Amino acid sequence: MTRIVNHWIGGKAVEGASGTYGPVTDPATGAVTTKVAFASVDEVDAAVAAAKEAWATWRHSSLAQRTSILFTFRALLDAHRDEIAELITAEHGKVHSDALGEVARGLEIVDLACGISVQLKGELSTQVASRVDVSSIRQPLGVVAGITPFNFPAMVPMWMFPLAIACGNTFVLKPSEKDPSASVRLAELMAEAGLPDGVFNVVHGDKVAVDRLLDHPDVKAVSFVGSTPIARYIHTTASANGKRVQALGGAKNHMLVLPDADLDAAADAAVSAAYGSAGERCMAISAVVAVGSIGDELVEKIRERAEKIKIGPGNDPTSEMGPLITAAHRDKVASYVAGAAAEGAEVVLDGTGHTVDGFEDGHWIGISLLDKVPVDARAYTDEIFGPVLCVLRVGTYEDGVDLINASPFGNGTAIFTRDGGAARRFQLEIEAGMVGVNVPIPVPVGYHSFGGWKDSLFGDHHIYGNDGTHFYTRGKVVTTRWPDPADAPSSVDLGFPRNH
Ligand code: NAD
Repeated sequence: MTRIVNHWIGGKAVEGASGTYGPVTDPATGAVTTKVAFASVDEVDAAVAAAKEAWATWRHSSLAQRTSILFTFRALLDAHRDEIAELITAEHGKVHSDALGEVARGLEIVDLACGISVQLKGELSTQVASRVDVSSIRQPLGVVAGITPFNFPAMVPMWMFPLAIACGNTFVLKPSEKDPSASVRLAELMAEAGLPDGVFNVVHGDKVAVDRLLDHPDVKAVSFVGSTPIARYIHTTASANGKRVQALGGAKNHMLVLPDADLDAAADAAVSAAYGSAGERCMAISAVVAVGSIGDELVEKIRERAEKIKIGPGNDPTSEMGPLITAAHRDKVASYVAGAAAEGAEVVLDGTGHTVDGFEDGHWIGISLLDKVPVDARAYTDEIFGPVLCVLRVGTYEDGVDLINASPFGNGTAIFTRDGGAARRFQLEIEAGMVGVNVPIPVPVGYHSFGGWKDSLFGDHHIYGNDGTHFYTRGKVVTTRWPDPADAPSSVDLGFPRNH
């Protein structure tokens, strides 16, 4: 019998009532292992209603109560790392060590949420005028929604709900329909940690569920992570409906390699960052920009390393790279490699047609390396989201910066060099939200916010860190006077209040 993934509403599993289900596939075998319930408008409404009802109480919960629950959740998450990583591998396909890394990075945001009391500390100015004090406080918004992508089914939800809930909001998550199980397990662990019913809800589904969250008058804010076209749509629609929105989109992350760089270290970094998780990371390096005469040597070093990557099922501990999420996505990725030569690129490694013995129906593709890729080739202009690395050649540092800044994406970028002055210039001149200096995947730690520029993020706030707390709260300023009996008697004064 096929396993079914249900919604999580009001603190319990709720069977789908719409009669619509989506298939969840094991990417290593190509077999449909699970059906996931797709929510109707009524089912989304039920989740939002449960969250709204819970908010009436949760908004008044003490910081001590919230952090106690989060510390317990943290311990449970820590104890269930392996189990959650296995759920991720079974539906996403990434190798177990990579899935464990994802859980660890999600846990960092839980750490941050455990310290919410410090972040929510208000400000107080005493005696701004005679016997007048002013305090600034931050309060929760109400019901907030999160819509998340397939590529980090545990980490990206954890970029959102621990902090939102710690700030006193209640949450409705719509995870990716391609790998929905990890998010439900996280909801179960939150309940086990003592979270009151209705504070965290999970509804599964497609555009129907997402559109209802964007329309629902009781949803006050939307956090989205996914591809650029959908991020733009979410930002436009939710903003038009009067909601606060942060919508993180796709990427094309560049790694600029200067002639003085340690080329072995740069090649190691490029291979790890391009082919890890089969390139299905929003912070994957997908374009290496080689400066000056180092191009041939660098490409050769990348090729030597990339050829040795062991491709296989994610639950085989010897595998370094797993399959892609769906067969359709695999075919799309392959089409970029197939068309690259006609677009003027040199195909150094062609990963199309790769299979794995015993897993012939899996969504496999091998390693592809494209050199001398023209800037107008689709392999460069589009986000491929697969194990395809483009190398572009430029003459100077300035040419490299111009090339990177001309990209419509601005998520992460890296420079590899031994020159501190060049690295410092790069930090200031480059148009991207996250910069690595000799670090290929500069995903910020939990207490620094994550977010891109340009088409990689729509909205004013990056996610988690101080931006996260700010996004999930509203400011309020309270001006207080307690008159003293010795004060002059009050009188009517129609002038604009002045402080003196
Ligand atoms: P996606 O945009 O297809 O889906 C993301 C979410 O939106 C899913 O929950 C999906 O059900 C929903 N969705 C899809 N189509 C929709 C539509 N027409 N209307 C309403 N909702 C819709 O993204 P994906 O394929 O799941 O994830 C990969 C993408 O996410 C890549 O582009 C990657 O770069 C990006 N991503 C970005 C970041 C970041 O931090 N910037 C992080 C992870 C992934």
